[in-house]
Amino acid sequence: MKRLVLVGGGHAHLSVLEKLAHATIAGTEVILITPNRYQNYSGMLPGWIAGHYTREQSRVDLQPLVEASGVRMITASVTAMSADTRTLTLSDGQQVTYDFLSLDVGSETQTEGLSALGVRLLPVKPLDDFFDQWPEIQKKAINQKDYALVVIGGGAAGVELAFAAQFALKRAGAQEHVTLVVSPDGMLNGHHDSVRRRVLAYTRKVGIVLYQQAATGVVDGLQFSDGHRIYADQVIAATGAKPLSWLRQSGLSLNEQGYILVDACHRTQSHPEVFAVGDTCARTDVHMARSGVHAVKTGPVLADNLYTVLADSAAVLKDYQPRKSSLYLLACGPQYAIASWGRVSFEGHWVWRLKDWIDRGFIKKFSWNKV
Ligand SMILES: Cc1cc2nc3c(=O)[nH]c(=O)nc-3n(C[C@H](O)[C@H](O)[C@H](O)COP(=O)(O)OP(=O)(O)OC[C@H]3O[C@@H](n4cnc5c(N)ncnc54)[C@H](O)[C@@H]3O)c2cc1C
Repeated sequence: MKRLVLVGGGHAHLSVLEKLAHATIAGTEVILITPNRYQNYSGMLPGWIAGHYTREQSRVDLQPLVEASGVRMITASVTAMSADTRTLTLSDGQQVTYDFLSLDVGSETQTEGLSALGVRLLPVKPLDDFFDQWPEIQKKAINQKDYALVVIGGGAAGVELAFAAQFALKRAGAQEHVTLVVSPDGMLNGHHDSVRRRVLAYTRKVGIVLYQQAATGVVDGLQFSDGHRIYADQVIAATGAKPLSWLRQSGLSLNEQGYILVDACHRTQSHPEVFAVGDTCARTDVHMARSGVHAVKTGPVLADNLYTVLADSAAVLKDYQPRKSSLYLLACGPQYAIASWGRVSFEGHWVWRLKDWIDRGFIKKFSWNKV
């Protein structure tokens, strides 16, 4: 009996579980290690903040999926691993060994320079913590006069969070003061100028205050590089990704930042029995942005490759070749969205309907209890 361990219920592992539900692998025990039986979906987080979705609608319940796929689920986090002895240490003290391992553990939020904010800081990742804490923040923002909410981060996540928060507070009748702080390089780097123009125009239209400066956290807000300070009751950080810290001592080959180096088949550079996908990995052959789109699309390739290695098949492993441009649909608060696709951009209520259809479809695909 061989043992395959899947760590994290991330986007790509959902495809592996789905494939297992259709066809188990003979002679293989499969274990999923996840801190939570629910896999929150970041694509629907802005819509949840804005009140378009319930929490249940924005996540996948892994329990029915693992039952259908004959996978044993352990509800715990990996806190350490030794790739050389093929051993994982879990948050509940258990040790789990493996023959093959796949890591889809995502990333955390880079909060360097913000720690002085203490409890005023809420990083967007881990998502589980964000989903738990946002309702309380929203309540305070609605009940406290002049509540100052600051979102820091000029990527798609920061922009969507600022739009969603502003819309949610306005709809609740609060006197909304939402500020978006982006780095000196500006917002939405990597997206076409036309997307940036649309987002900037929308930011102005809804009255979000925008700062474009490097900022560090202070006890009661942010301080900019020119010395100017702003007060914040709460700062939401969407300041980019950082890898999970326990990977440093794992024995796996990592890049300088600490992401797991993988080839085009998502096999790790150092250990052929270990695969890694999604935000936690860095490709050695091509630059790939950390995005849900790639994590989702790698899923079926990973699933096929795991089946191949477990079957001791001589078949060649499959490559995942990222397309040059991915479609990003940025939720704007109300049921309105801006699309970014290479050099093309467009916006409207129909763009939101497209996003809504894609996101609900994703959840439905893996919601085995609702079949
Ligand atoms: C607000 C927001 C909106 C976004 N919108 C988009 C979008 O529209 N399009 C897009 O392409 N990208 C989007 N992204 C980026 C996207 O969220 C990530 O790129 C994507 O989630 C990466 O998927 P993943 O499978 O690597 O990890 P995740 O989906 O984060 O899954 C990782 C899983 O691993 C688990 N895990 C973590 N640590 C451990 C551990 N130690 N042990 C066991 N399990 C662990 C976590 O609980 C989680 O379930 C958005 C991000 C944010 C914050």
